Amino acid sequence: MAQQVPLERSDIANERQDGRAIQVLADMAYKQLVFVNVMLVGQARQPHWVLVDAGIPGSGDRIRRAAAERFGKDTPPSAIIMTHGHFDHVGVLEELAAGWNVPVYAHPLERPYLDGSSAYPPPDPTVGGGAMALLSPLFPRSPVNVKPQLRDLPPDGSVPEMPGWRWLHTPGHSVGHVSLWREADRTLIAGDAIVTTAAESAYATAVQKPELHGPPKYFTHDWQAAETSVAKLALLEPELIVAGHGHAMRGEAVRAALHRLSREFRQLAVPPHGRFVEAPRRAEDGSAYDAP
Ligand SMILES: [Zn+2]
Ligand SMILES: [Zn+2]
Repeated sequence: MAQQVPLERSDIANERQDGRAIQVLADMAYKQLVFVNVMLVGQARQPHWVLVDAGIPGSGDRIRRAAAERFGKDTPPSAIIMTHGHFDHVGVLEELAAGWNVPVYAHPLERPYLDGSSAYPPPDPTVGGGAMALLSPLFPRSPVNVKPQLRDLPPDGSVPEMPGWRWLHTPGHSVGHVSLWREADRTLIAGDAIVTTAAESAYATAVQKPELHGPPKYFTHDWQAAETSVAKLALLEPELIVAGHGHAMRGEAVRAALHRLSREFRQLAVPPHGRFVEAPRRAEDGSAYDAP
């Protein structure tokens, strides 16, 4: 059974290499850190920019270098916005937030994973798909602590320091997962609500094979919510999608793939025997928050 929606190399949105980050819009570039992306939102050579997500452990120098090449030396961002707090998105968050002394914004439901108070539920290595899934029990899931810099995303849906953008609550992969959306040019920063490579497979992850997928299976704890979130994103009809994993992708074929993923979510995205398919972990009953 097909477990993915294939995309073509020609759908990849990369226009040119801008230093070490890949520019996809005049005011957006992303930096691939082994298997995860961070987004640098802001015009090149302008001092005002925002970092979305904070990479894998050990990636601090690479992020700082990419930022310096794009925005100039000693140009810290105005804020760091978190799509969610999994280890591959908060790898150097403590170091960057403290070093730059900038606010970190996240959804209130994600706060316990970012202020040291809760761990994520354990990953599910039984979801299949490859070595990344099998190795997932080794991935860190204990919280980071950026309490002094941590702020809630504003309830009105605006994104601090990113005019023209809105945050959308897209839970399922994690309870406080958000995606960022700019209506004017239909740009979607999807986080891990959808990804554009097979995150469970070490091979696909290594070559960044373009395919549209639901959220990485081993770390998704509520599949019903994940399905609703993908439906919400499909309705947006995005022109450009930059996800937490995989290449940025653009155009009609990608939109069609997103609709198909939404329509056939149960077959394409939900693991047949996942531990959390029957027993989701949720915020409402506290089951999404483990002891740190
Ligand atoms: Zn994640
Ligand atoms: Zn991720």
